[in-house]
Amino acid sequence: MTTVGILGGGQLARMMVLAGAPLGLRFVVFDPAADACAGQLAPLQVGAFDDTAALAEFAARVDVVTFDFENVPATSARWLAERRPVFPNPAALAVAQDRLSEKTLFQELGIPLPPFADIRSRDELAAKAVEFGMPCILKTRRLGYDGKGQFRIRGEADIDAAWQALGAQVDATGLILEGFVAFDREVSVVAVRGRDGEFRAWPLTGNWHVDGVLSASLAPAPASVAQHEAAIGYARRVAERLDYVGVFALELFCRGDELLANEMAPRVHNSGHWTSDGAETSQFENHLRAVLGLPLGDTRVLGYACMLNWLGRMPDARAVLAEPSGHWHDYGKQPRDGRKVGHANLRDDDAAALADALERVGQALARQAQVEPVVRALRER
Ligand code: AMP
Repeated sequence: MTTVGILGGGQLARMMVLAGAPLGLRFVVFDPAADACAGQLAPLQVGAFDDTAALAEFAARVDVVTFDFENVPATSARWLAERRPVFPNPAALAVAQDRLSEKTLFQELGIPLPPFADIRSRDELAAKAVEFGMPCILKTRRLGYDGKGQFRIRGEADIDAAWQALGAQVDATGLILEGFVAFDREVSVVAVRGRDGEFRAWPLTGNWHVDGVLSASLAPAPASVAQHEAAIGYARRVAERLDYVGVFALELFCRGDELLANEMAPRVHNSGHWTSDGAETSQFENHLRAVLGLPLGDTRVLGYACMLNWLGRMPDARAVLAEPSGHWHDYGKQPRDGRKVGHANLRDDDAAALADALERVGQALARQAQVEPVVRALRER
């Protein structure tokens, strides 16, 4: 009986637990919050990520360690790695935790990306903003997610406001300035690499964000074959360089024929949630297979698959469940503004039929704006 330890007990851990049950796995999840939602399905150990005594107790209970949360301190990951196998490895986690390190890596690997610069002072910010052109985006190097810790600089008049908003973070998290990409679409590659180096990727996924937070995904993404192949090739390069084991996501911008890398997430990813009901093997199952050194499952998409994120509170499930391939995922969380509380997956072999189903769901839940870009992409197939 193998016990997998997961650092972080949110919905990603919860879905790993669900995917791991048929494999006969047991889990212990570790989270600072006593109400972490994976704790409804698996034993939860409550502790701080930098509490060595709590981590020692956790290590003693598990055979292998992985993450649902990438901002576990790198020192804690390294400490655990001296006691148990930890996947992805702590060095890979450290790179992916820091926007400057990951972008420097992309550049070294020849992966195209927008211009970026490490920012240490207001004067450096002003100089680089002029060099990159405005708009541009000031971000914290660490601990930012879902558009948090970002300031969009639209013109020189915004530079002081940007520095006021984020300048205090220079020592705490570091700052990075990025050129703004006027993208046509956002896409991601969700990929997996096994302990033996085997690499597989799900088809490129198209993503739509609202206020920096993922709203909907569609696979395969509306993108050319060349873009699919290039994006998956970039993901492979990153995984091989980092000796990465497990699932990760590489987020990219499409601008015309160009693909520009944005960031990587060293874990199962929201843009791969469709794989639970729309792929031969889900990202959650393949992550566990990778971490345990088991053969990886096929990553092909079953027709067209889409995911709708639910933020704040769960809508009524019935409209989705009434669809032939509608699946409901409720994370068991308390409602809170902006919080990811669940998602729905729908799939169909036929693009037009999936578009019809999405329109019915959008209408029934008064979420026409959320489904509309996905419907449009499907109608163009
Ligand atoms: P991130 O936290 O870097 O994934 O950013 C959240 C969202 O902000 C992205 O999904 C984009 O919609 C937008 N964004 C971030 N960086 C850029 C950029 N350099 N150019 C244009 N949009 C961006």
